[in-house]
Amino acid sequence: MIFEVTILGSSSAMPGWGRNLTAQLVNYEQQWFLIDCGEGTQHQLLRYKVRMNKIRHILISHLHGDHYLGLPGLLSSMQLQGRTEPLHLYGPPALSDILTTQFRASHTYMHYPLVFHPLDPSQPALIHDGETLTVSTLPLEHGIACCGFLFREKPHKRKIIKELLPPDLPVSGIIALKAGQDVVHEGKTLACLDMTQPPAPRLAYAYCSDTKYSEALVPQLVGVDLLYHEATFADDFAARAEETHHSTARQAAQVARLAGVKRLLLGHFSVRYRDLSPILDQAREVFAQSHLAIEGQTFAVNGPLSPS
Ligand SMILES: [Zn+2]
Repeated sequence: MIFEVTILGSSSAMPGWGRNLTAQLVNYEQQWFLIDCGEGTQHQLLRYKVRMNKIRHILISHLHGDHYLGLPGLLSSMQLQGRTEPLHLYGPPALSDILTTQFRASHTYMHYPLVFHPLDPSQPALIHDGETLTVSTLPLEHGIACCGFLFREKPHKRKIIKELLPPDLPVSGIIALKAGQDVVHEGKTLACLDMTQPPAPRLAYAYCSDTKYSEALVPQLVGVDLLYHEATFADDFAARAEETHHSTARQAAQVARLAGVKRLLLGHFSVRYRDLSPILDQAREVFAQSHLAIEGQTFAVNGPLSPS
């Protein structure tokens, strides 16, 4: 089972110190979702050998330039590469106007269906309902309309213990057992609890950037395995974080701790910090399972916990 996140950029506002602007790629069983698309994202896709046309969904959290200015170029390159598959684009309503103006001015006519889904950040909403995965929005507090995204697996079915299965049990019986029902077969009751093992846990990944410290997020993050939370500043710029609707690393860790997530990824680092060790150290004082979102690294959503 593949459910992982590759970091394509983790710098806030401006690139610096080898860090690109915000973008990341979620791979769930070969379904590819791009989250945010800062300037330079298509270079990062080339650098990390990701074929851009396998991306089916692009989610844009908000319209600060460091989160979407790479989008017109990426959409154009997809066209130049002969894309015909539909692309689903989710973002604030004004994003559609921006792209329409850009494409009109450059006489660009897309040969692939670009399906735009406007986001309403006022309340959580289901925006993708796949066979085994859902994606919902997470309203964030950031000065302008901004949404995070929550990727959560649908409940798995129970697992059959094959050795116990009567060889002549029809498929309908197997389906019923997996769904949690007892089955009568040749006069005998096959109890679901005896014949099956509990289902695998549902995994969840949450992306929260950009936002000021918000405990309102916590209930939506319960049950999350891997949380990406912005950590623009260390303690030395806590006042600046408040002013600009961003978070410190310590605040990101506090959200992770309150929600009881398993692991925390810190990102969206200010270019003030060449050395990110204060960000990591201050987060770990609150939440031991904190990690830096380093570019090019891929994190499994159910990855191992580090010794604390
Ligand atoms: Zn922002």
